[in-house]
Amino acid sequence: MTAAAKPWMTEHRKPRVVIIGGGFGGLYAARALKRDDVEVTVLDRTNHHVFQPLLYQVATATLTPADIAAPIRWLLRKQRHTTVLMTEVTDIDVERRTVTTSSAGALPYDFVIVASGARHAYFGHPEWEAVAPGLKSIDDAVEIRQRILAAFERAEACTDPAERAALLTFVVVGAGPTGVELAGMIATIAHHGMVEEFRRSDPSRARVLLLEGGSRVLATYPAALGARARRDLIALGVEVRTGALVTSVTADAVQVGAETIPTRTVIWAAGNAASPLGRMLGAPLDRSGRVQVAPDLSVPGHEELFVIGDLAATATDGRPVPAVAPAAMQMGRHAAHNIRRTLEQRDRLPFRYRNKGDLATIGRYRAIADFGRFTVSGVLAWWLWLLLHIMYLAGFRNRLSVLLEWAYSYFTYGRGSRLITGRGHERAASSTPALEPKW
Ligand SMILES: Cc1cc2nc3c(=O)[nH]c(=O)nc-3n(C[C@H](O)[C@H](O)[C@H](O)COP(=O)(O)OP(=O)(O)OC[C@H]3O[C@@H](n4cnc5c(N)ncnc54)[C@H](O)[C@@H]3O)c2cc1C
Repeated sequence: MTAAAKPWMTEHRKPRVVIIGGGFGGLYAARALKRDDVEVTVLDRTNHHVFQPLLYQVATATLTPADIAAPIRWLLRKQRHTTVLMTEVTDIDVERRTVTTSSAGALPYDFVIVASGARHAYFGHPEWEAVAPGLKSIDDAVEIRQRILAAFERAEACTDPAERAALLTFVVVGAGPTGVELAGMIATIAHHGMVEEFRRSDPSRARVLLLEGGSRVLATYPAALGARARRDLIALGVEVRTGALVTSVTADAVQVGAETIPTRTVIWAAGNAASPLGRMLGAPLDRSGRVQVAPDLSVPGHEELFVIGDLAATATDGRPVPAVAPAAMQMGRHAAHNIRRTLEQRDRLPFRYRNKGDLATIGRYRAIADFGRFTVSGVLAWWLWLLLHIMYLAGFRNRLSVLLEWAYSYFTYGRGSRLITGRGHERAASSTPALEPKW
């Protein structure tokens, strides 16, 4: 960095680091700067950090939102030099070095780390979002939970057999890890968790369909693990269809080729699009809108601008770094280290992703794990999955409460968090689904 590009030196103040996003990347970047002589500001549109890998458990009423999320300001409370602002970032001016926010004005920065993640992609059909919500945030998870629970309630109140069958048909689109986890868990609660509670309808007869346009379940995992996941899902009562390209989604049905599947609950787990903030940086983007970063994670031509996590496109040993939580955490730490090295006038280091393994779970006691040199499936993989997820949950209280909730619900198929509140309450009582989009 040239002397002219170091205004904090002439202005006799600490360098300002602005971090956009308090997800995995942003939180780990902020934490990695805790001992540095800088001023850190973390901006997020929500007040909480979410452990996204467990969102599906909130969506399927096993855990509560507070089990898997924690206020960002609480997580960073011990860092006296760190300010947390709940605000939406609306613009980044890379020439003036300011970040514009919806409620905190324009914030100047010396370094900025953009970690605003990704959203769902509907492949040119944004209108599907209102009827087929995706799962990225706590709000999404609560909305999906409301829809699933409301469908069971409406089926119990319904007298028309065809309508009841549609209400008890749940369609998950996309057989990546999120789709597999959701479908496995919906089948588990429907076929085991609630059977004794309904009198007029029979939740155990609910159909759960997992539709995948590609040829495999869990396509990013080795073929044998994908095949194992498929068998496990079928054993749980999920109808798994590959090569099933969805051509239309409405409030009443999903269309796959010539087949119409009547359903009132569709969940979208089929695609991701990078955060729109990436487009404001004037940097090259890949096909899904991710910013193509330099090896040190900065944007070429802008040493003060870092992009990390799901929004960054980079590779290690020629292989693209996947959009997963460990990659975002590692990038967050790495960007922070490179800021430190710049301040200490040392050379920056290139980022290298260390893959410690990929895990996905498929209902109770079933999971698959790919550690590169070897793979594990079944009960052992499930215990590994459980251990790792507990370890990385933010906050001791969350770890303890999740362990207790899991112990209770896994051993008893307990009631979990099956509450319908707010708008979902109206939906359960209504004969027509509420269609107004919330996102
Ligand atoms: C349902 C689901 C399941 C997953 N399961 C796994 C798993 O099992 N294992 C795994 O490794 N990975 C999993 N992932 C992926 C993993 O969660 C992501 O790779 C990781 O969260 C990316 O971190 P990030 O910091 O880039 O973005 P995020 O964690 O998404 O954080 C982005 C943050 O930016 C904020 N933000 C966005 N735009 C703005 C704006 N304009 N203004 C202010 N704030 C903004 C958001 O509120 C959010 O807090 C899963 C993801 C999902 C959605």
